[in-house]
Amino acid sequence: MATNVKPAVQSVLEYVRDNADALAGVCDSLFWFGEPAMQEERSAELLTGVLEDGGFTVERGISGFPTGFMATFGSGEPVIAVHTEYDAAPNNSQQPGAAEHSAIVEGAPGHCEGHNVNGAVMVAAAMAVRRAMEAHGMEGTLKVFGAPAEELVLARPYYVRDGYFDDVDVAFHPHLWDRFFTEYGVLQRAVVSAEFIFHGETAHAAMSPWDARDALDAVMLMDAGLAQYREHLRPGMNMHRVITDGGDQPNVIPSRAAIWWFFRDHTADGAQKLFEQARKIAEGAAAMSNTELEVDIKTAVWPVRGNQTLAHALQRNIELVGMPEWAAADQDLARAVQEGAGVEAAGLTTEVTPLTGPSPSIPAANDCGDVSWKVPMGRLWYPSNIPGVTFHHWSAGAALATEIAHKGGVAGAQALAATLIDCLTDPALISEAKSSFAEETAGVDYAPMIPADNTPPLEINRDLMEKFRPLMEPHYADAPPKFR
Ligand SMILES: [Zn+2]
Repeated sequence: MATNVKPAVQSVLEYVRDNADALAGVCDSLFWFGEPAMQEERSAELLTGVLEDGGFTVERGISGFPTGFMATFGSGEPVIAVHTEYDAAPNNSQQPGAAEHSAIVEGAPGHCEGHNVNGAVMVAAAMAVRRAMEAHGMEGTLKVFGAPAEELVLARPYYVRDGYFDDVDVAFHPHLWDRFFTEYGVLQRAVVSAEFIFHGETAHAAMSPWDARDALDAVMLMDAGLAQYREHLRPGMNMHRVITDGGDQPNVIPSRAAIWWFFRDHTADGAQKLFEQARKIAEGAAAMSNTELEVDIKTAVWPVRGNQTLAHALQRNIELVGMPEWAAADQDLARAVQEGAGVEAAGLTTEVTPLTGPSPSIPAANDCGDVSWKVPMGRLWYPSNIPGVTFHHWSAGAALATEIAHKGGVAGAQALAATLIDCLTDPALISEAKSSFAEETAGVDYAPMIPADNTPPLEINRDLMEKFRPLMEPHYADAPPKFR
């Protein structure tokens, strides 16, 4: 390790290393909880418990999200935020360490992307920085945001809309991948998520269909209308849907039917326009079927952007920390999973990824998009998964409660904590981030797309968890070791 490292940075690197068992314990506990979007009860309880024990002041249930939180330490300026997600996904139950599809509980939700590691990395970095702030007498405020339901891109637009980032100077988002890197530019797409619910009137489908107003007809017509409209999408726009209510049985014409759409584009404006076009098509479908339309906007998110100044700050610390030292067993597991998944058996990444120019945007979205237009945001990717695997496939869950996830998580928490210390101790870094952010966002007037009166959809995945929680509980891990 370099010898010209600031003492406070040195102390956070050591703190994370010395608390690697606690980080691994949180990572594994969240993995076995396997709680999907909006149902992260045990996960949020564990993360807020760690932070509260560590001296943070915790506000739970922010913006109406029961499993969301903001934990604060310190006072005054600068105000540095870190935020991440900890939700699992439906039907993603997977045994860690298995090189084949092997569910813990068949059909249950589970972690096959790695948000369990994200939660552990965030609290480990926060605990390290909090200790260093005290030991080195640092001024400033650290805000730690727990963001539920990333898999449905839900929470953070509400947080930004409700003012939780108004006093924040810079923010960071850690997320695992198969490499250790950062990036800048517009990185992901904007998305509007909305359900279109049609209301009609039932009748016997054989005896008196002329008396019915068929809500399912409206769903089919809306789907056909948008299929026709696909020709007119601009490059980068896309949309996809599921029918969430198609009626009950064929001889009862449904009085209620619903279809849930995601509309995406490179820009917030484009996603909004696509949604407005879909609304017109839905109104047409309602008119054709003599039904009434109700539109439920679940979320609306700006595209994720990474700030160039903060990317360079992260990259310096990624290089300072370096890649984890993988054991032969880690490489063996990685190759076995790669073979099982039918991808190149190249093993784990062993070199830090260099920072190059602006990254091209990927078609997916993340709800941290709104944060990244409100304040300069750094995106840290840390190496806790196996190269070549696909998120939400069993192969992306196989490493998530193993040494691969733990070692990558330690490296990620070290790089994140070191960068948080840089921001707390270097006012020039903050002002440079702000001025490059002003250049990057020039000409764009950020305002949340989420409607002012929207409230979070609390019922999502509730039935799923009621069904599976009793079957998953026997697999829960013991309480993790405490951070020292
Ligand atoms: Zn993710």
